[in-house]
Parts: sequence; C-alpha cells; structure tokens
Amino acid sequence: MSEILKEIPSVDSIIKSDEIKKYLSLYPRNLIIKAIREVLESLREGVLRGIIKSREEIHETIYPEIEKLLRDISRFSLRKVINATGIVIHTNLGRAILSERAIKNVALVAGSYSNLEYNIEEGKRGKRDVHCIKYLKEITSAPDAFIVNNNAGAVLVSLNAIASGKEVIISRGELVEIGGSFRMPDVMKMSGAILKEVGTTNKTHLHDYRDAITENTGLILKVHTSNFRMSGFTKSVEIEELVTLGREYGIPVMYDLGSGCLIDLKRYGIHGEPSVIDILGSGVDLLTFSGDKLLGGPQAGIILGKKELIDRIRRSPLARAVRVDKLTLSALEATLFEYLDPESAVEKIPTLRALLDRPENILKRAKRILNLLLRKHGIISMKSLRNKDTKDKDIRAYAGIIEDYSQAGGGALPEVNLKTYAVAIKPVKISLNHLIKRMRLQDPPVVGRIKDDLLLLDARTIKEEEIKPLAQSIINALF
Ligand SMILES: *Cc1c(COP(=O)(O)O)cnc(C)c1O
Repeated sequence: MSEILKEIPSVDSIIKSDEIKKYLSLYPRNLIIKAIREVLESLREGVLRGIIKSREEIHETIYPEIEKLLRDISRFSLRKVINATGIVIHTNLGRAILSERAIKNVALVAGSYSNLEYNIEEGKRGKRDVHCIKYLKEITSAPDAFIVNNNAGAVLVSLNAIASGKEVIISRGELVEIGGSFRMPDVMKMSGAILKEVGTTNKTHLHDYRDAITENTGLILKVHTSNFRMSGFTKSVEIEELVTLGREYGIPVMYDLGSGCLIDLKRYGIHGEPSVIDILGSGVDLLTFSGDKLLGGPQAGIILGKKELIDRIRRSPLARAVRVDKLTLSALEATLFEYLDPESAVEKIPTLRALLDRPENILKRAKRILNLLLRKHGIISMKSLRNKDTKDKDIRAYAGIIEDYSQAGGGALPEVNLKTYAVAIKPVKISLNHLIKRMRLQDPPVVGRIKDDLLLLDARTIKEEEIKPLAQSIINALF
C-alpha cells in the first residue's frame, strides 16, 4: 500500500505538467491548486481504504478528476439554463431573453465609457433619465416617461411621489399578491400612502369609488390582477370610467398594468391582454409596467404619463433608490428600437416570437429533437410502446411527440392556452423524478414539465441552437 501511495504525484509536479498548464490561462491559479489538492487527498484516501489498488488506476484518474473538479468549482452561480417548460416568461428562469440587438448593445455599453450622464451636445453633465424616452414616446404617444429598476419600484416611487400621506382608492378585488413579495397593501404602506379599499372581493362598482372620495384622496389606482382571475358573479370598473371619475374630482388615476404589451396581440388572435397603447387611450394619468414581461426587454419598471406627474416622480428622493443602471438602459433602448416597426418586433424580440410562434414551426423543432434521440440505441419511439413484442433489454426510454398547451407566464394571459408540441420522454430504467433531477444536473441544466407520467420538453421555448445540446443532455441523463 505504501508503494502505491508513493505513486501519487506532488502538487508541484502536477501543476507543471502539460495537462494542467493549459488551464493556467483559463482558471485562477488558486482554484487549480485547490482542485489538485482535493483530488490528491481523495486518491490517498482511496488507496488507504483499499479501493485503489494499482498505480495505473492513479495515473488514469488523476487528470480527468482534476479537470472535472475544476469545472465544478469554477462554475458560476448564475448561469444559462435550457427552458423546456414552454412558459415563455418564466420568472424563475429569468423572464424575457433579450434580442440580438439588445445583447450587442449591452456588450458595447458595458465594455466602454458612455454618455450615461453626459450631455454630448453641450459638453456638460447630463441626466440618465433622458435615455429611452424618445422611443417610448414615439411608440406609445405618452406625453412623458420615467424608467426605474423594476415595476415594483415603479409603483412604489409613483405612490410615494403622488400620494404620500394621502388616500389611494383601490378595489378590494385588486389587492393582489404578485410573485411572492409584491403585495399591493404592503407596497402602499412602504410608499407612505394610505390604503382606501372599496367594494368587495368579487364586485366593485363605480359608486364605491365615488363614495370613497374625500378631501384627502390623492390617487385612484387600478391594478391588473395578472396571474389571478375570478369568474362568475364579478364586477370591476373599467379604466375609462375611473378616468372620467378622476377628471370630475381632479384626482389622478394610475394603472399598474404589470405585463405591459407594446403591440396589439388581438391582431395575432390572442385576446385578454390590453396593450399599453389601448390603456393610454383611456386617458389614464399614469401607467406602470415591467420591462422583462411581455415587452421582452431587461428587468425594468416603466412609468408613462402626464408630464407634471412624471416630473414629480423624477424629483422624488426614492427615485434615486430605485434608479436604473446603464446595462438595463442599453438593453431597453435597443429593445424599444425594434418596436418602431411592430411587424419586425414580433420577429426580432424572442418573447414575442416564442409567444406567437406557429404550431407547425414548434412541431418542426420537436421533431428534430426527437430524431436526434431516436438515433441513439436504447431510445425507441413511443409508438412501439404498444407493440408488446419489443423486449430489448437495452431500452432506456421511450420518446415521442405530443400536442399540448404552453403558457405565456409572467402573470400575462393566464387564461390563454397556446397550442404547442413537446417531446415526451418515458424513462425505463430510472424513475421520472430521477430523470428530471439528472436533467437539472446537466450543463446547461434543462428544466421541463411533467404531464401524465411523462417528461415533456416543450419546443416552444427551445431555440434552434439549443436543439443539439438539449438532445445530448437528454441522452446524458438517460445513460
Ligand atoms: C409583475 C407585476 C408587478 C411587479 O413587477 P416587477 O417588474 O416584477 O417588479 C407589479 N404589478 C403587477 C400587476 C405585475 O403583474
């Protein structure tokens, strides 16, 4: 045993070896040494426990083990994942993915100095809140706009600037919680505004709002209930009616739209989500929405509205606390640029493209994934599941394609089912839960969904260039 122990090389000799030298330019030296030490330690233990019995075993495993460990310990916490859930705006998976133009612009602005707060014409200090405003006004015809870190921040800063110390009238049916930590009553409290609930959970009438108006009313607020729908005996007041009421009493009206869509989805056969332009047409004074939901840009909160109100928000001390950074602005401006031509926006913005993708295109991608899988010995077509004569012992899984529905996600269009196609996998040698776990442990990790004891990989949210890596990950997870 001590003879074999002597075969374990020193850290010094390993780091000088050709196998390891190539990593010196890729990984921090400390990390490489850490990986070497750990591998040597486990080899030593293996020898002492009698698991490793020959010098050959040591020399065969040492470099691959170091390489593997190095890759493990240098993996970033935040990394790419393949979204095979079919949920287009998946909050847990980072919501919208950016367009080519936005990605390029982020890289450009991130890697150089910029005029973030510099007025180029005048050669003096400028303001970051001028960026993106031109396009926002052009696309939506809003009189003015202000951008903050996210929509929760947009609501907070707006309530604070417009209605701090005053009452904000809101329907009980709209006191919702959105995505865990955004609860309207809590946000209201934080802003310093006083919550004035009206109506009941299922019904609120215009007269409920009217009766609640006092000298101290600062704002009438409408909230898009996003991921929550009530049906049956319900009544809510349309934004147009609230605007008329607000005008009558000189009280501003704000709408937290959540997932602000900048194109008219009705044109594409999708109903249920009013566009930002429609809502502005109602004459609402302020409108807030997210940058990374249906808009398909970076995380941001966008506030549109009357110049005088936007100015008050801009000057609020909270505005600094929720201010937007240059990477967001660079991504948002390039995203908005696509909307100057709505026809091309639906092609170039990945969120819209995935949302409106035609079932036959999705089917094509699903078939390509399936074909790659069926080329592998051990994965067989689900069609043969019915033929009881397949008794091949090597079968690891059945795979096929099924028609199903995917969701928009991000609180948008909760009632809309988008027809889709998914690759369905039925593992044979391991359980479904085990397969799902192994898919998550791939590089990149793959997240799918379960239906009827099958793992579904929805091709709606799979990009062309992800088809091969996805198929490989499935194979790796099964074998
Ligand atoms: C999503 C959502 C929010 C929160 O927006 P973030 O951009 O996640 O901060 C607030 N209000 C509504 C109605 C929403 O749908």
